[in-house]
Amino acid sequence: MCWKEMSAASFRWIFAVFVVAALAWRTWLALRQSRHVRSHREQVPDDFAAVVPLDAHRRAADYTLDKQKVTTLETLAIDGVVLFALTLGGGIAAIDALAQRWLGDGYARDLATVFGVMLVATAFAIPFDAWRTFVVEARHGFNRTTPRLFVTDLLKGAALTVALGTPLLLGVFWLVQAAGPLWWLYTWVAWIVFTLALVMVFPRWIAPLFNRFTPLAEGELRRRIEALIERCGFHAEGLFVMDGSRRSSHGNAYFTGFGTNKRIVFFDTLIERLTAAEIEAVLAHELGHFARGHIPRLLTVRFILALALLALLGWLYREPAFYQALHLSAPHIGAVLAGFALVVPVFIFPFQPLASLIARKQEFEADDFAVRHASAADLVSALAKLYRDNASTLTPDPLHSLVYDSHPPAALRIDHLKNRPHERAGAQEMQTL
Ligand SMILES: [Zn+2]
Repeated sequence: MCWKEMSAASFRWIFAVFVVAALAWRTWLALRQSRHVRSHREQVPDDFAAVVPLDAHRRAADYTLDKQKVTTLETLAIDGVVLFALTLGGGIAAIDALAQRWLGDGYARDLATVFGVMLVATAFAIPFDAWRTFVVEARHGFNRTTPRLFVTDLLKGAALTVALGTPLLLGVFWLVQAAGPLWWLYTWVAWIVFTLALVMVFPRWIAPLFNRFTPLAEGELRRRIEALIERCGFHAEGLFVMDGSRRSSHGNAYFTGFGTNKRIVFFDTLIERLTAAEIEAVLAHELGHFARGHIPRLLTVRFILALALLALLGWLYREPAFYQALHLSAPHIGAVLAGFALVVPVFIFPFQPLASLIARKQEFEADDFAVRHASAADLVSALAKLYRDNASTLTPDPLHSLVYDSHPPAALRIDHLKNRPHERAGAQEMQTL
């Protein structure tokens, strides 16, 4: 079929088929995962028998099943109902018509349409978030978010979205009008600048809106970590402890920022639970991500993807089949942009396994780096503790894991750490040099 001849009706059909196929595939994977976890509930895998008691293993299975249930229902409700209602059902067109009636034909109308569509989509997701936080996480003893904090987070998130989104959207609307047929290319450049600026300001200005960061106290842990950073030839602007315990008892650590703006952040819940040697091994893993350039590489992939998507948007914007399929009589940029943002993920979904595969490969690379600069045994025991305390399942369905998991299953990862032949490490070091 020639694209030029594509009608609104055929576009609607293609979209509907993709949405239904994705829903069927995701539901099937969810059922596989639940069946697999349930059937392995009574037996701790041999590799973990020493560290994970049967009780904790059963708790991890129940927690995984509960989370899976919410996610599946959310997918069916949001992608099956809300997405259809907003796009093919004419929801976006209705919001746009309302915005026009109130605000006339200027940029304000397009802004209101974009934020209005976001508001509707978010409003339907909130009950599922609340269910996850106050029912599932609470039932399994992880939740520390109060209803008040939950609401404050939502309001702060919305205010931040409006504050950051408004100038960006106004810039795009202006480019559409003023920059000619290549507006999408200029938009891409603006998008890159915006993203890089966000990465720069996030640790210092945005993250502190949601959490408190205190410098890591002097002592054995700090000494070990400074020695590790020095050994790896890194410079970090600061070592911080974040009050992750305000929201949940799950533990984590991360590395953020760029250039001279780098920060290392530990959740207080991680520091409470692991020994100094284990934390050092976890940090060595995080430094591995950095040493291997995973963050700039991820950004580059995102920029290339954004260029392809914006080129597509540049074309679809003028394509009657697209905006008519959304029940719009003319291509109003706010409505087209909102429609595009909702439609595109459905077509990108089939690439999920590829993204997960690359992420898992990077986890192995970071582990390889970690054991060269810290102790493999400490990383193994840290991972085992984190899996146990976070109630992460040790027995995921292999296909579900292949599609979704950004981290390799615990058994594979620990196997890799334990049986790492030294020759291979040598060879990899040569390659990096
Ligand atoms: Zn990692």
